[in-house]
Parts: sequence; C-alpha cells; structure tokens
Amino acid sequence: MTKIGLEIHCQLTKLESKLFCSCKADYRGFEPNTNICPVCMGIPGSLPLLNKSAVEKATLIAMALDCKTPNRIAFFRKNYFYPDLPKNFQITQLNAYGNTSIGWEGKISVENKEIKIRRIQLEEDPGRLIYEGATEKTKLTLVDYNRAGTPLVEIVTEPDFETPHQVREFLNILSDLLENLNVSDPGLEGAMRADANVSIEGGSKVEIKNIGSFHDLEKAVHFEITRQQSLAERKIEIIQETRHWDDGRKITVSARTKEEEAEYRYHLEADIPWVRIDDNTKNQLQLHMPESISSKKERYVSKYGITSQVADILSSDRYFSELFEKANNETNAKDIANMITTDIMGLLDTREKREISKLEGDHISDLVEYIKSNKITRASAKLALDEVIKNGKPLSQIIEDLDLGHVSDEATLSDIITEVLNEEAKAVEDAKQNPDIVNFLVGKVMQKTHGKADPELTLALLKKNLAIK
Ligand SMILES: [Zn+2]
Repeated sequence: MTKIGLEIHCQLTKLESKLFCSCKADYRGFEPNTNICPVCMGIPGSLPLLNKSAVEKATLIAMALDCKTPNRIAFFRKNYFYPDLPKNFQITQLNAYGNTSIGWEGKISVENKEIKIRRIQLEEDPGRLIYEGATEKTKLTLVDYNRAGTPLVEIVTEPDFETPHQVREFLNILSDLLENLNVSDPGLEGAMRADANVSIEGGSKVEIKNIGSFHDLEKAVHFEITRQQSLAERKIEIIQETRHWDDGRKITVSARTKEEEAEYRYHLEADIPWVRIDDNTKNQLQLHMPESISSKKERYVSKYGITSQVADILSSDRYFSELFEKANNETNAKDIANMITTDIMGLLDTREKREISKLEGDHISDLVEYIKSNKITRASAKLALDEVIKNGKPLSQIIEDLDLGHVSDEATLSDIITEVLNEEAKAVEDAKQNPDIVNFLVGKVMQKTHGKADPELTLALLKKNLAIK
C-alpha cells in the first residue's frame, strides 16, 4: 500500500511582528536586509522575547485541527549551519520532555477519509538565499535575512494519504481553514510550503523537499510513487533518502542518503522560559474562534435555502463569505449568494483586484433589489458592478451616471422594435411559423438598447407587432 505523509510549513502572516523580536512579520516588499535587528540576526548578547499572539494563533490552528493542546510549551534549539540561519541554530519545538509543542494528535477529514495530525509546532523561519542565474551554475549567492524569525507553524501529518489527489485536497482544505481562522494568507508567495514523504509496500521512506507549489507537490508525489513502483518491479531496492523536486525537469533527484543526515543536537532553549497556557486562555481562544467553514456552509443551506454547491463555494472563501454576510438581508439571501458566486468572484479573481475594490455589501443588496423590481436588466447590472468596484459610488448614482436604467417607455421601445422588424425581415417571416425566433428578435432589441430594454415589455410588444401569442 502507498503511504504518503506531509510536513507543512505555514507562516503566520497576519501577525504584526516576528516570533522573537519586533521586526515586521510580513517581510515582503522590503529592500533586502532592512527588516532585521540584533535578535533575528543572532548577534551574541541579544535575547529573544516570545510573541504572545503567535502562540495564540498557533494554538487556534491546533484547536481547529482537533489537536490536544499542552498546559505549557517549551522551545528547543535545533543546531545546524546554513547561510540563511544567522544564529547557527533554529528555535523550534520538540516533544522531548512530555508534550510541550503547540498541539498533537489532531485530525482532519478529506474525502471521507480521516487524516491524523501527528504534531503542530511553532518555530522561526530562516532567511532566504537568492541565486544569481541557474542554481547549478551560479557563481554568486545572495542572502536576505528579512524573513529570518518570521513565525512559522509546522504541521506534521501521519502517513495516512494513499493518493496524490488526497494530498492536494487536504492542502486545499487546510489553506481555506487557515485563511478562515485569519491567521495566515496562504496565497502570499512562500506563505505555505510543504514537504512530502512517500513509501510503497516493502520499500523505505523517501522524503521530497524543495517543492514550490501545491500543484507541483501533487506532481512530485505522483512522480515519486511511479519511480518507486518501477524500481520495485525491477527488484531494485528503494533506499531511504531525501530527494529534491527539480522544477525544470519535473522529476525528483537524490539529495542525500540517511547516513549523511544531520545530527541536530537539540537542546532546551534556555533564553525562553516555559510558557503556561492555562484553561482560561484556551477557553477564551475557543470562544473567539471564527465559525468553521462546515458550520457556515450548513447555516447558509438551512437558514437561507442556498444550494449546497453555492454554499460550498461561498463558505470556503473568507473574503466572499464576509461580503455575503455584509450584503445579506435575509429576504434576498439566495440572489445575493448567486450574484457573488457567478458575477463578483469572476470580477475580483485576484488578491490585487480585491485589495483595491470599492465594492461594499450594500451595493450588492441594492443591485439585487433593483434587478428584482425590474429597474435594471442583468446585462446592465454587470456594467454597474464593474463601475462600483472601481469607484464605490452609491448604486443609484452609478445607474444615473451611466444611464443604465430600463428603457420601459412604450413609445421609445416601439420605435426601436419597428427598426428591428424592418431590418430582420427574414426572422419576422420565420417567427410566424416558429415562435422561438421571437427570442432572437428580443436579443436584437437588447443590442440596440445596450441591454437596457425592459425584457417583458419588449417581448409583449414584439408579439403584438407580429400578431402571435
Ligand atoms: Zn528582528
């Protein structure tokens, strides 16, 4: 049987500061080596000060993943030398003296299969190495320490996955969950990374590192299963090793074997005292935990009668479910949900677009109301949405500015219809035999009015003109 386990690293991007100093947790957008201080650079004599919010946010994740949580946490030093780690050790967690990491023994359900979480720990992210040119031929490596000390949560699963597809589904669910908890923005570059370990029946465990995206992770796992199966078929031993994902060639390549694996000489970090997390703190966190995606979905279906499919899309996205909650005025909930999932999600399909969007909940509820009371057509509604997103003006004003109101004046509409009937002589003939052709003529009237003609009145007038029922 194929066994796949994951190690996911997730930055707590919603925090203000790093894990042990007051430098910015969101290091993006800084000039290299400007978001640093003696603490995150590991200058001798500097002392780390633990970020309380990081402990709370990490604990929230542990709770949301049904983990057991400790009454006190401890930190350890993991010693190794690498240029991106200025201290020569990483402050992390280890369950050496009982369970003192953020959480353990959790679970999450993926495609009706339970995936067990072995452990969750809080640690610091190292800096970043930037290679000039292709990695293997590079003559110059640059180091940027802006990321060093960023709060990182490591989530380790049991090897419970059986297929690459389950891995991908799990990561989608986990990334929605982290976003919903408001602890991380998994869409940011490098905010969520994962390593995988893969073994097939009778073979040793192989770790795959260096995978750039979730999409590649699925491919890397798939490649590794195929590689191992092909070795097994040829009776070649599968050795325990670490392999890197080669993004260019889309294959895994051997990086180091077990014998060469580093000895980290873990020991307690004496500069950070053990931290108590009492029941009161845990209760408070539980109390303020955002509603889970599944219960949100259930509420949308049972309370508002939104279809399960639409509720699923809406509830799993924090931004759009918040927009829905703001726009929602119970009577039109279903139409509002549909408008968000069919029109608005397409218009605001990137983070950048959402960040500058001026669209508010009121705009959406007003727009749905306008459509329902026949003041604006669906086609015009789309134009109005485009405009609202750009400038955020009240809907009534946008409709006036863009002249999007219905053409429901009978005389005006009759003139346009006469024009269309003159131009479409053939369709007029056909319509007398086949009443479906009338819809084609309605379409022509819509074209001439830029989608503003009142559809019911247009149809009625056309039928009257053609003397059909
Ligand atoms: Zn710092």
